[in-house]
Amino acid sequence: MSTTIIIHRGTNQIGGCVTEIKTNNHRIFIDFGEELPGTESDEYGLMIDGLNYKGAKCDGVFFTHYHGDHVGMFGSIQKEVPLYIGECARQIMLTIYEKIENNDAIEILRDGNRIHPLEENKTIQCGDIRVTPFSVDHSAYDAYMFLVETPDMTILHTGDYRNHGYRGGALFDVIDYHIVKYGRRKIDVLITEGTMMNRQMEKVMTEKEMQEKAFNYFRNHKYIFLLCSSTNLDSLWSFYCAAKRNGMGFYGNNYVFKQILNFKKYAGKRSSVLYHFDKVYPVIFDLERMPNSAAQEKIMRGNGFVAVIREGERYQKWIERFSDLDPKIIYSMWEGYLDKNQKGYNQSLSDFLASYDLEQIYKLHTSGHATTECIEKVITKVNPQMAIIPIHTENKMGFLKLNISEELKQIVTYLKDGEELTIYRIHQDLPMQR
Ligand SMILES: [Zn+2]
Ligand SMILES: [Zn+2]
Repeated sequence: MSTTIIIHRGTNQIGGCVTEIKTNNHRIFIDFGEELPGTESDEYGLMIDGLNYKGAKCDGVFFTHYHGDHVGMFGSIQKEVPLYIGECARQIMLTIYEKIENNDAIEILRDGNRIHPLEENKTIQCGDIRVTPFSVDHSAYDAYMFLVETPDMTILHTGDYRNHGYRGGALFDVIDYHIVKYGRRKIDVLITEGTMMNRQMEKVMTEKEMQEKAFNYFRNHKYIFLLCSSTNLDSLWSFYCAAKRNGMGFYGNNYVFKQILNFKKYAGKRSSVLYHFDKVYPVIFDLERMPNSAAQEKIMRGNGFVAVIREGERYQKWIERFSDLDPKIIYSMWEGYLDKNQKGYNQSLSDFLASYDLEQIYKLHTSGHATTECIEKVITKVNPQMAIIPIHTENKMGFLKLNISEELKQIVTYLKDGEELTIYRIHQDLPMQR
């Protein structure tokens, strides 16, 4: 009996996560993501396209969350493979693909025979592999880490996570309660993200702190255009609350409005205090199309507003329309999009911002990923017995600098993309053999 782990992608990059876990008879995948734009795709990447890899059957693909670097290639998965994702995540993805009119993707996402919803702490059995999802805090909502149990091995795959969002406090409780204290077995292998590993010094603010900063800023600046991902629920909630507390309205185009309705429906229902967007208005105004824009504009001018925008001429016109009121632009996205030296550099976004004065732009953003302190705490609490495998990182060696015990440092295992790590457990107490 043995269990094999293969990180097909993600051992040396932040995009394109793909993890395979297999036993002698069964195998599952965790995430099937697209690489960040600008990543040089290798032949290896093509080989796993469609999950035809070595012709073996796949019992299921489990998606940690809806970001493209985790779900992007789902359209290439063979029809008979069941796909597992959170129900809210599925709706968010549907809204995205409906907007860009990708009918193939829409068909898969609507197919109840292919898509199976994940539920917190509800185990799914794929042959001799058991997978149990636990909700985690991330800049995508409805994100999960997976506890994977094979006949001889227990693996915790964190997906992307952090502990500084509104629901971040639950992270260590979940680990303490479900995994350490009442878990059926000790964790043998921890597969964890390490996005922030090359930004170890960066001071990260919490979503709550960001809300306070926005709240204070909005006292003096009531006309705000916000560049923020329309799927980043926590940050939208931070700016929404800051606006509401200042009596300002919150606006977005139809697409943003639909995503917020999704969040309200699923996330709002799960919390008594969070994500109750009661006052959000669709479409600020379209200079050509909105017949009642005069009335709307009057309210916006009277109360102030936060309007979610993106780069583009259409939004440039919106900003111009309010130019007499000295509107400000908040940039609440990853700095790397504006950095020519980064893989994810976004030229149109960068050009858009460059057309405004620096004093008109306020950068206010918090990371969706675990700080090094958070990763240290997760590793120490989980206390894996055999291996710690860094993924979703450009600096896996950074794990050696973590403030964790020497024993734990010694089991940090660096895999290459596609390299197999097979663990044979001959006896419960014996260490693994590679
Ligand atoms: Zn993510
Ligand atoms: Zn990611």
